[in-house]
Amino acid sequence: MKAWEKNIRRVVPYTPGEQPKEKNIIKLNTNENPYPPSPKVLAAKTELEQLRLYPDPAASDLVKEIAGYHNLNDNQVFVGVGSDDVLAMSFLTFFNSEKPIYFPDITYSFYDVWADLFKIPYETKALDDDFKLVAEDYYEENGGVIFPNPNAPTGLVVDIDFICDILEHNQDVVVIVDEAYIDFGGQSALSLIDRYENLLVVRTFSKSRSMAGIRIGYAMGNPALIKALNDVKYSYNSYTMNYPSIVLGVESIKDDIYFKETVAKVVATREWFEKELTRLGFTCLPSASNFVFASHGSVPAKVIFEQAKEAGIFVRYFDKPRINNFLRISIGTDEEMKQFVCFLEQLLNK
Ligand SMILES: *Cc1c(COP(=O)(O)O)cnc(C)c1O
Repeated sequence: MKAWEKNIRRVVPYTPGEQPKEKNIIKLNTNENPYPPSPKVLAAKTELEQLRLYPDPAASDLVKEIAGYHNLNDNQVFVGVGSDDVLAMSFLTFFNSEKPIYFPDITYSFYDVWADLFKIPYETKALDDDFKLVAEDYYEENGGVIFPNPNAPTGLVVDIDFICDILEHNQDVVVIVDEAYIDFGGQSALSLIDRYENLLVVRTFSKSRSMAGIRIGYAMGNPALIKALNDVKYSYNSYTMNYPSIVLGVESIKDDIYFKETVAKVVATREWFEKELTRLGFTCLPSASNFVFASHGSVPAKVIFEQAKEAGIFVRYFDKPRINNFLRISIGTDEEMKQFVCFLEQLLNK
């Protein structure tokens, strides 16, 4: 190894789901929304000559719109380039003790990557045999707690009492609830931010708002937490939110009717699809998200994953202990899900 190589930060990066280039595939592997963004977003006027200027470093128009939507003050909202950016920034800002942070063993696989990148010690806490979080595992003294609700890739949700329990036992550290999928089911922890000043709730435009491509995420919490995030952001890169994102993000929030309709369509399709999977011999974990986590009684998940790919249908498979016989299937349009069910019928009848 050359001397300079010794000073390189070595990390094992997060592996995102495939973004295949082929047309005419059915893409159910990265939890994108099958419906387009709101017509208001599609019709929005962005004056591209504005790109000459730096964007508003505070992204105030977007912060204001999000805050208004959730009945919060502007100083309770932080926006970033997707919730991945918001979460990474939160790890950097809030997880600075010598003690390990806690998160579930089966969860969003970016958490351990950020912990390694920022040299934050961590311990994972095993989900129980039904893939549920165990509150008592998070009682011991730690450096911070993070979990998604609903969890990914299981799709399982915990209730408000569970979150209160975690917060009651973790008043000396920041607790982050990653609500990437909360619009599809379950109760948000947002109502608790006034009661618990150490609670940060993180959301994204990528799933329920059909805007994965624009990269908008946000955090909500006590003004002291939001200020800390902004201080770190301004010490790193002041202009994270570009001008078109700010304009289009505002338009999305303004169209609440479309948003709710789209979410309801995805939920209805999910309910139909879960019944179909059960009919075909799958076991599905009860999903509160825009994907289903399912395992077949006799055909290995890996075989289905590979065969589906051959047939132009992309789903997600994780070759990891305990979940290597499960498929995570994002909810597409009714037509896409019908085609997937047809494919499964053929495969399973062979
Ligand atoms: C998709 C996802 C994110 C990241 O979403 P962004 O596109 O970066 O906003 C964060 N957390 C979980 C649990 C997710 O599934």
